[in-house]
Amino acid sequence: MSIDYSDHLVHDRAEDEKLLSVNPIREDDGEFSLRPKTLSEYIGQQKAKENLRVFIQSARQRGEPLDHVLLHGPPGLGKTTLAAIIANEMGVTLRKTSGPAIEKPRDLAALLTNLNENDILFIDEIHRMNRAVEEILYPAMEDKQIDIIIGQGPAATSICLELKNFTLVGATTRSGQLSSPLRDRFGIDLKLELYTPQELALIVSRSADILGVEIAPEGALEIASRSRGTPRIANRLLRRVRDFAQVYNDGRITREAADHALTRLDIDPLGLDMIDRRLLLSIIRNYGGGPVGLETIAATINEEPVTIEDVYEPYLMQQGFIIRTPRGRCVTPRAYEHLGLEYAGQMSIDT
Ligand code: ADP
Repeated sequence: MSIDYSDHLVHDRAEDEKLLSVNPIREDDGEFSLRPKTLSEYIGQQKAKENLRVFIQSARQRGEPLDHVLLHGPPGLGKTTLAAIIANEMGVTLRKTSGPAIEKPRDLAALLTNLNENDILFIDEIHRMNRAVEEILYPAMEDKQIDIIIGQGPAATSICLELKNFTLVGATTRSGQLSSPLRDRFGIDLKLELYTPQELALIVSRSADILGVEIAPEGALEIASRSRGTPRIANRLLRRVRDFAQVYNDGRITREAADHALTRLDIDPLGLDMIDRRLLLSIIRNYGGGPVGLETIAATINEEPVTIEDVYEPYLMQQGFIIRTPRGRCVTPRAYEHLGLEYAGQMSIDT
């Protein structure tokens, strides 16, 4: 069996090509050049970054591999980037794969036995790994061993293989879906948060520098404020704003140029797009502002419940537009105000 596991990340590119998508789309292929390579280049996530710095430094001083790391947080926040930075700072090789890409236990066994001393194995979407595969990981993470069954039927025997030292870096958007035996085997657990507009403005300015685009600080902040707290979106909007600035101005991104471009792209001043607005309006119009269950909202706006939970809700909740209650989701007065609607309490209104 010869499979190249060196870059086994799978993304369903065709699935969602919209501008505010947090999943990578085709035009993000140039993302590689924008990825920070060291911890000091990595902007924001102060708490996670500082803790990681200590763990990396102490592991290096002891000459040991880093403990296994679990990174969790919404897509596009820098989990893959951080995994590459960890490898870089530890001076070891990063091997990438993803939960759904590992179909059989023997695929994972092949990956693990091919690692070199202290390598990092990055498994994206680790919550989507199947149970049989996951069970290979337990002894691998704990005792650097895997059990492999050779042969079939009554003649089958199990042999135990010793692995080299390695660090598993798992990334997930839904840590709640990890089984506890797996979760418990990660010594380092880092949660990434949505970025503030100020942090994103630094990321936009840094990316503009790399792309050779002239940008005013106010232009960077305008893009940052409309990027849903997500660096992947900020970088993507920067490229689109650059196009408009080039065609309509002298190529320099001022606040006005950014506002003009983003308004043309239907991205409102807080970064909400058509689907966010549809989601809020459907709760307001059909369910009197809530409470309403996730499944019902999903059916009404024709999206998957998991997409709503992972992609739309984190930002809408951070902005204080939606709250979760035991009886379902509710739209807040602040959202009514943002949409230019009058708040009539949590009851049916006809707009
Ligand atoms: P995830 O794996 O969480 O989906 P990625 O690591 O692929 O996200 O990050 C998406 C893009 O955002 C990267 O290409 C990188 O350029 C940018 N990025 C993410 N985090 C940062 C950061 N802290 N500083 C600068 N750029 C970042």
